Amino acid sequence: MNISDDCYQWLMNAYDSAAEEELWNKLSQEEQTLFAELRKKNLARKEAVQNLENENEYYFSAFDALPLPMAIKDKNRKLLFVNKEYRRVIKMYLESAKNYAEINGEDVKSLEMTDEINNFDFSNIAYFSDESKESFIENCTYAIEHCAIVQQEFSLGHGEDKQNYIYWLTGFETATKKRGLVSVYYDDSFFQSILTRLNKKIVDLEKEQQNIIKTSTLDPLTGAYNRQVLSGFLEDAIKDCREKNSTFSVLMLDIDHFKKVNDTYGHLIGDQVLQLLVMLLKKTLRDRDYVVRFGGEEFLIILHDISAENSKRIAERIRALMEENMSTPMRRPITVSIGVVSYHKDESIKDLLQRVDDNLYKAKTSGRNQVVSSD
Ligand code: GH3
Ligand code: MG
Ligand code: MG
Repeated sequence: MNISDDCYQWLMNAYDSAAEEELWNKLSQEEQTLFAELRKKNLARKEAVQNLENENEYYFSAFDALPLPMAIKDKNRKLLFVNKEYRRVIKMYLESAKNYAEINGEDVKSLEMTDEINNFDFSNIAYFSDESKESFIENCTYAIEHCAIVQQEFSLGHGEDKQNYIYWLTGFETATKKRGLVSVYYDDSFFQSILTRLNKKIVDLEKEQQNIIKTSTLDPLTGAYNRQVLSGFLEDAIKDCREKNSTFSVLMLDIDHFKKVNDTYGHLIGDQVLQLLVMLLKKTLRDRDYVVRFGGEEFLIILHDISAENSKRIAERIRALMEENMSTPMRRPITVSIGVVSYHKDESIKDLLQRVDDNLYKAKTSGRNQVVSSD
């Protein structure tokens, strides 16, 4: 066949002009059959290429429309494709990395990208710390080898420009067994700022909750615990006793002739006496001991981890302290009576309170301003 390449091309591509017809007619029967066959094949191939291009255009536009930077790499981590957002972010960071390197006298050349981003390997970026680079490469390799998804956190930039990212590396295998990697990352700063705000909110709420718990468990007049929390305190003390094989004591304190104080000087003075009493108690007791307002002018004191002997001593100290420091406006001492008991192993709260109440009653009937105890 002695048809020039041009002529061949012309034949393959066009088929309806008069010139072509003329040429066509010059061909032998055999040549015509061959060309007809070739032309058919060529048209089919062209159509396939066109379809592929249409498809690719479709995919690439879709990838470009993604608001996340995305890159596709081959099994050697060489970039095959990056979307528009990826190009934007990398350019931006490279620019600022260069500025940073220049300012800090670092090697700017190491930041140059050949052919824009085609040969660009993320792990070359100076922004990555050596450690990050290493783990990044490791993660890429792992994702490719295992067709797995690996998540990595990293930061880009310096100082105020610094931003945290979450990186997803997803290894894949094509139908023809080619391995590759698609990576997507997103700016984590927004989520971090939400997280920071949420954490602050949680701390505030916890504080508020503690305040609510505190105010709902405290007696508003004296600041002593109120009776609602007493059984909880006693249960805890009993549990503690069992676990640590220790013991605790309970004091029941009642102001002597308090009705008279109220009747003589008024309720306001009575209130002040109650406040002073609790203040003195708190001052003299350890932090882990509790003062509970049991009734009007009656208080329960829980002393943790203490021997019966020592609790008696403390009760006596409290009695003396009140006698010395509390008085009526006419400087008449205001005294207290105190019942003391030590917790008996396996005793119920009810029995414990009954025993301490009995001791207080004995202190009252024996003349007041005194301590009555039993082990
Ligand atoms: P006793 O020595 O036997 O304990 O005599 P008392 O007068 O202290 O005992 P009584 O139970 O007869 O009186 C208790 C008084 O406590 C009666 C009540 O007016 C007073 N009281 C209870 N709660 C408060 C309070 O919150 N403020 C004031 N000011 N007085 C209170
Ligand atoms: Mg009283
Ligand atoms: Mg009373």
